Amino acid sequence: MRRISTTTFRIARRGTSREINRQIALNLIRTNQPISRAELARVMGVRRGAISLLVNELIEAGLVFEGAKGESKRGRKPMDLHIETRRRCALAVDISASRVLILVTDLLGHPLMDVAAFATPHQPQTLVREIVTNVRKILASHPEVGACAGIGVVVSGVVQDGRLEYSPTLGWRDVDLMKPLKATTKLPVVVENSVKACILAQVWTLRGDAPVDGPVAFVNVSDGVGVGIAVDGKLLRGVNSMAGEFGHVPLNMYGPRCSCGQKGCWEAYVSKRATIARYLGADPSWPASGELGPLTVDEIIARARGGESLALETLRETGYYLGRGFATLVKAIDPRRVYVSGEITGAWDLIEPFVREALREQALTLHAGETEILTVPLDEHPRLRGAAALVSSPAFAAPDVA
Ligand SMILES: [Zn+2]
Repeated sequence: MRRISTTTFRIARRGTSREINRQIALNLIRTNQPISRAELARVMGVRRGAISLLVNELIEAGLVFEGAKGESKRGRKPMDLHIETRRRCALAVDISASRVLILVTDLLGHPLMDVAAFATPHQPQTLVREIVTNVRKILASHPEVGACAGIGVVVSGVVQDGRLEYSPTLGWRDVDLMKPLKATTKLPVVVENSVKACILAQVWTLRGDAPVDGPVAFVNVSDGVGVGIAVDGKLLRGVNSMAGEFGHVPLNMYGPRCSCGQKGCWEAYVSKRATIARYLGADPSWPASGELGPLTVDEIIARARGGESLALETLRETGYYLGRGFATLVKAIDPRRVYVSGEITGAWDLIEPFVREALREQALTLHAGETEILTVPLDEHPRLRGAAALVSSPAFAAPDVA
């Protein structure tokens, strides 16, 4: 049961029920495409005539097209319904501490070309300038991708209304990314915390395999640790966009110094830096842990697979600390599913029993200890898919009535 807001309500007007049915039809086409009008009518449980009205509106709005996809074959062409992705694209931009990635996708998040990358500049103004230069270059050299529906930007840190309020890993405070990007590109721009965007992309995934009801969480373990939470398909942001900052919830108040300045945060135990420092026997505290040389988590995983016991032991320890943090997450939001991504997922088969052991120890009930955890491989570019979802998902959202 959802309470009606007395400050942001929208009165139901004539046509509202049609609007709701149209969004239901659009989402059914998204998850079942290709689908015929007759099949859609059957799934929705309404008459063909009613479906025609809804479908015609969706076609007129440019959201859906009817016909054969791709090359037309000989003989009868199937008149199936598809989400219109042919003439428009979304630009996805992922800003992390080390590099900026740009990808052009269709409006369902499918990549239309290879990922472009450049090193993250130290100054925010230079960053904006370089993004604009790259976006212009990509769009000018690929006219076949069609009109750009918008730019989705994801960044590590706290984002409120398009402003990056604080990013411990980038070391930036109060940077407006949306306004200058909008002004120079003349395109719609959405800026969001990268992990909040990741969970949005899972919820709005093409086949809709994410649970539709209850809380779901996305945990990204990289330079830092970010968590995005959606409840019943809606992003949980809190009053100050702070909801989900489990990376900075302490596991131990006397633990190593974290990038946020506090001690013993979850991030200070499981980030890439923390794992590398533990392996090297170095101080895992910030900022010393940022200068540990060229060793990567991937290399430690390779050594563990090669039979090196120190590497295996280090990864298992990271797994155990991951599980401790998952237990906090489970006790706070009791999610139906937790997605996890980051370099450490490359070692999941080696560390999963240790993750689960810690979760079972700390969770209060047997059920909570068995909360589903699914890995999202980095080569699926979850952050870029999240950025694309910022542009494309609003079209599929339920109407905001009452
Ligand atoms: Zn912290």
